[in-house]
This record gives sequence, C-alpha cells and structure tokens, in this order.
Amino acid sequence: MNILFSSTKEKPKFWFPLLQKLLPGDRFFAWPEINGGDIDVALVATHQPGTFANLRKLKLIQSLWMGVENIVGDTDLPRGVPVARLIDPGMVAAMGETVIAYVLDWHRHFYCYRSFQHQRTWKRRRQYLASDRSVGILGLGELGGTIAASLRGMGFNVAGWSRRPKQLEGVHCSTDLDEVLARSDAVVCLLPLTAQTRGILNKDRLQKIRRDGCLINVARGGHVVIADLLAALDSKHLAHAYLDVFEPEPLPADSALWTHPGITLTPHIAALSEPRTSVGKIAENIERVRRGEAPFNTVDFAAGY
Ligand code: NAP
Repeated sequence: MNILFSSTKEKPKFWFPLLQKLLPGDRFFAWPEINGGDIDVALVATHQPGTFANLRKLKLIQSLWMGVENIVGDTDLPRGVPVARLIDPGMVAAMGETVIAYVLDWHRHFYCYRSFQHQRTWKRRRQYLASDRSVGILGLGELGGTIAASLRGMGFNVAGWSRRPKQLEGVHCSTDLDEVLARSDAVVCLLPLTAQTRGILNKDRLQKIRRDGCLINVARGGHVVIADLLAALDSKHLAHAYLDVFEPEPLPADSALWTHPGITLTPHIAALSEPRTSVGKIAENIERVRRGEAPFNTVDFAAGY
C-alpha cells in the first residue's frame, strides 16, 4: 500500500517509525509528495488544503484525531471513500485526566484559592461532597461515556446527553438537552462539531445550568457562543469556565479570554493524539482494507461525525 501523511499539526517523524514497524511492506509519503497520485491510504489531521484533489485510488482516509469536522467539511473529499475516526486509548485516558482535573478544580474551589493566594487572603469556602454535585456530560461517546463512568466512580451524580438513547450504569442518560442542563452544576462538552451542535451552548442553554456551576469545553470552540458565556460569567450565573478549544486557534493574543478572571484556558491540549497508543488501531484498519474488509470506526456522513 502507498500511504500518504498530511497534517498541519501532527509530525511524520513521530508517526512513521512506529507505523513502518507495523506495516513493513508499505511505502510512506509525506505531503506534498503524493507519488503521482498513486496513494491507497491517507492519514490526516487538519490536513493540508488540496490533499484529496488528485488522489484517485484512495481506499481509506484515516484520521489521526478523534474529531473529524475538518475532513467531513472538505469539499474535495472523494465520494465513496470511507473515513475512519481515530479511537485512541491513550487519548481517552488523557481526556479523562483533564476533565477530572477541571471538575475537581471547580468542586474543591481551587480556582478561588488561586486568586485568594494572589491577594494574600486567608479565607475558606464551604465544602461540598462529590455526592452534593451533579455533572452533566454532553456527548456520551468514546470520551464522554468513559468519563461519565469515572466521575460516577468518584461519587458525583452524573447525567449525560446523546443523540440516540443510551444506558450507562449509574448515569442518568437522556436525549433531552434542557433536562440534562437543568440537573447539572458542572457541564462538560464532549460533542463532535456538526451543523446540529455548532453554537449549542448559547445564552438560553447556559442559563439552564445550575447557578454557581461551571462549563468545561474540551470539544471544539464552535460549540460555545463566547459572548453568551462571558455574560453568564460576568452576571455570576456561572462560577467558572474551563476552555481548551477556541475559534480561531491559536487564540489571538488580544482576546479578552486570556485575562478574564472567570476563565481557565489551555491551548487545545486536553488530549493529544498519542502515536504510541494509536498506531496499532491505524495499522489494523489498513490491514482490514488490504484484505477487502470494511475499516472500523467509520464516519456516518448523515450524522456528520
Ligand atoms: P463520539 O464517540 O463520536 O461521541 C460523540 C457523542 O456525541 C455521542 O454520544 C453522540 O451521540 C453525541 N452527539 C453527537 N451529535 C449529537 C447531537 N446532535 N445531539 C446529541 N448528541 C449528539 O466522539 P468522541 O470520540 O467521544 O469525541 C468527541 C469530541 O471530542 C470529538 O469530536 C472532538 O471534537 C473532541 N476532542 C477534543 C480533544 C481535545 O484535545 N480538546 C481531543 C479529542 C477529541 P450518539 O451516542 O447517539 O452517537
């Protein structure tokens, strides 16, 4: 197989040696080298513009990221070629650590104690038990489903929203977004970015989260209407927001978000693709295509993810 790597974010030098070990008979190319268009598999993550334009023999587009909105939205996407999402156990673990860190930061009031320290103020806030708190997870997929179970295991009440009905032990699963928001103190966004989910966390929805709660957005910047979030923080309806993703990225240096006292932000690092834990899954999909079988974890274009 001829395998092309195209990404503006991921670096072939970290992926090729591991992939070559698992696929010793295959040939690897890094964009813009496309072997005259004779490419069987494209490995992509925020791919270079025009990547798919001249690839007529493609059999598989394999994402190197869990989110696929850049691929789904590419007008050059060849029809009929399966697009596979990356399901990386290393990323799932990393996202769990990030979300739990943020939930605990809010739950244990550490965001307040950091500012008290800054002001040399010795002040205690009321202690809550995990069982006093409810966490709502928007998206109960690979990431949201796993994290819901972890938070439940820590004693939090957990509710989750998904498109199709779900059952997760100990988790209040619902397809009614407003119901999930209304029972949540902390809301974690782990949705894919689609036409249905863009701008979903707007003024009305943010107001439905319980007072003094927090928003954790580790999905995509386009899910949150930032002006509405700032209003919810400034009115003290929400106590704090944790933002890992933005539109655009990188966040411009003059953005008001950098210095807002109600916001903790990170540069899209909630869970990075981890070549060591994901090349096995990628090689497995390439082997499946080589045998003429359907790859795992393909995108449902009607749903948009
Ligand atoms: P996934 O397995 O596809 O799960 C998506 C979940 O969202 C599913 O439960 C799905 O419902 C639900 N959903 C989708 N559209 C919906 C709608 N219109 N209404 C209600 N629920 C809807 O995705 P994942 O692997 O967990 O990843 C989620 C997102 O995390 C990715 O798309 C990516 O953007 C983001 N991410 C961010 C980082 C970071 O570093 N910040 C890292 C990795 C991923 P169903 O269960 O019914 O399908």
